[in-house]
Amino acid sequence: MRAAVLERPGSPLRMVERPRPQPGPGELLLRVAACGVCRTDLHLRDGELELPLPRVPGHQIVGTVVGGDGRRLGVPWLGWTCGRCRWCREGRENLCPEARFTGRDVDGGFAEYAVADARFCFPLPDGLPDDQVAPLLCAGLIGYRALRMCGDATRLGLYGFGSAAHVLTQVAVAQGRSVFAFTRAGDAPAQALARELGAAWTGASEEAPPEPLDAAIVFAPVGSLVPLALRAVAPGGTVVCGGIHMSDIPSFPYADLWGERTLRSVANLTREDAREFLALAPTVPLRTHVTRYPLERAEAALDDLRAGRLVGAAVVVP
Ligand SMILES: [Zn+2]
Ligand SMILES: [Zn+2]
Repeated sequence: MRAAVLERPGSPLRMVERPRPQPGPGELLLRVAACGVCRTDLHLRDGELELPLPRVPGHQIVGTVVGGDGRRLGVPWLGWTCGRCRWCREGRENLCPEARFTGRDVDGGFAEYAVADARFCFPLPDGLPDDQVAPLLCAGLIGYRALRMCGDATRLGLYGFGSAAHVLTQVAVAQGRSVFAFTRAGDAPAQALARELGAAWTGASEEAPPEPLDAAIVFAPVGSLVPLALRAVAPGGTVVCGGIHMSDIPSFPYADLWGERTLRSVANLTREDAREFLALAPTVPLRTHVTRYPLERAEAALDDLRAGRLVGAAVVVP
């Protein structure tokens, strides 16, 4: 099969021909129909996160089961957990210290075929084509976990309007929240998409919102946005960092945290998050804005993501 492989940190993905992977006990072989591109793939590619190499990235896999009933399943970032540790037993398997992640610890979906643990594969809602459902598997899922950490906040800020924020805006608007979308200064296409999806306000990340927010989620991997977001939320408000990697957060006056503001991160996902979010998706109903890249151009998709040239989500299609 053909696969896009990361061989050295910081080097471009290389197209290789390699044997089709063999499923072990409890695993499924999937023929990949589409695989979403996440900022985490870019952090891995750029050497900002460590991983065993060589590795096939991609952790938003939509595929059909080979040699079974041809079911369509989704494979998310969480690929395996120990099931025994304190976090697994407490329903917080996202924090399992032995967790294996798709496209980091096991090969992912930037390939024609992928193998996945059947216990971490999910039936996908009907009605969305493969490429459009793929971004729900990380951008949607982990975004949704971040949204839940915002409680019942009605005025919600989203810093960084990419794949996750464009899905989350639809969920938040359907729940009756007002979305304030912060983008890079002058990113007119992202702001236009945000308004089209129902955002009440759009502006540059450095701008103050027209009214104080109840919560904000920082999706952009930019630490300097954290103090800005804290200043934008009202007393009692929450700021959630939704990414796996971020540049250093500059120091800020205690007054910006004072007033019972909460600052927290969200890490990974649980299978319960996946079941809940994938059941919710068709009720919104969620639509994703995707740019398709053939498998051979997976590296170009990462380039476009890094450069901020994408609107919505990128999806690799073998
Ligand atoms: Zn991801
Ligand atoms: Zn565990």
